[in-house]
Amino acid sequence: MDLYEYQGKELFRRVGIPVSDGRLAASPEEARAAAEELGGRVVVKAQVLTGGRGKAGGIKLASGPEEAEAKAREILGLDIRGHVVRKLWIEAASEIAKEYYLSVTFDRGAKMPLFMFTTQGGVDIEEVAASSPDALVRLHVDPFEGFQPWQARRLIYGAGVGDPEEQRQIAAIVEQLHRAFVEFDAMLCEINPLIVTADGQVRALDSKFTVDDNALFRHPDIAEMRDPDAYPPEERAAREKGVTYVKLHGSVGILANGAGLAMSTLDVVALAGGRAANFCDLGGGGDAQGVVDALEIITGDPQVRSILFNVFGGITRTDEVARGILQALSLMTIEHPIVVRLDGTNAEEAHELLSAAAPANVYVEKTMLDAARRAVELAA
Ligand code: GDP
Ligand code: MN
Repeated sequence: MDLYEYQGKELFRRVGIPVSDGRLAASPEEARAAAEELGGRVVVKAQVLTGGRGKAGGIKLASGPEEAEAKAREILGLDIRGHVVRKLWIEAASEIAKEYYLSVTFDRGAKMPLFMFTTQGGVDIEEVAASSPDALVRLHVDPFEGFQPWQARRLIYGAGVGDPEEQRQIAAIVEQLHRAFVEFDAMLCEINPLIVTADGQVRALDSKFTVDDNALFRHPDIAEMRDPDAYPPEERAAREKGVTYVKLHGSVGILANGAGLAMSTLDVVALAGGRAANFCDLGGGGDAQGVVDALEIITGDPQVRSILFNVFGGITRTDEVARGILQALSLMTIEHPIVVRLDGTNAEEAHELLSAAAPANVYVEKTMLDAARRAVELAA
């Protein structure tokens, strides 16, 4: 789950990382009021779940309340790479002397958290990594040893920060960021830029914070931060129903049991010359309600032209899945053609059930490739 900048900064604040004072605003009037409360110069910041807002015109400085209101009017409603701006973070403006970059994320290869730090912050970190890789200091934290103070020093000296006062503040922030990463079950904590102000204060000016969905049960307060408006309606419905759903960009809707089979199904659809509109993972089950839920979500996506149902029965019995499909189709009307491939435990019985009772828009295929070809053909 990705957090908005203002939410990430709230978590930063909880672990002691210095952030600027700010207020949330959903209208130009609220932006004005926020600027009045904060006093002085403010920065008006689009709250969207994507980066590069500055370049897209989503971050603007304002000299006071009136200008804050005007800038808010410009930014609200803006489309930043498919994300419409509905909320603004109005923050007391900082005088920036230097922009650094600090992050901690998972290095899955090394199976350890990885810190990255550079004094060349502010810009795209991918650019720094490509153009001057030596400027980007990388350091793993062994979870069994835990964080050690020397690790912060190595990052700081490695990046060439010379000022002792800066060194001290950054060392504290590195440790606090690690604490935030572990304590909040994060997958990414990124500060870009980590600024040094004109008077030597180090502070997080931005936040990119991703929390592991699977750990949200441990953090009810963070789970509540989820903004349902930030997701398309079918994704929201899937979450409410506990269905795993991923939106893609083609025209074949996919239902499979198990994430591995869903991935393979995407590949086979591509091999057949088509593209998936989305996919749902039925998990281990295939009962009628599960099928109804998944079909409702899949067909809620207007890009879907055909549906490919791909189930391999290991522990799952495919005859039960076939009964689930039939029952689901008696409970709901689906206009789209549905191609079904059931293989594995009790597949013959499943095929008999379907050919005896399935509606005319259901096509049963024996192999995954034939099913994919048929689904692609029917989506054309
Ligand atoms: P991003 O573009 O989505 O990464 O948004 P950021 O929060 O990182 O802001 C982008 C840039 O706007 C920063 O790198 C700064 O250069 C500038 N900026 C943001 N806040 C302030 C501020 O308080 N004062 C000044 N002078 N510039 C700011
Ligand atoms: Mn940034």
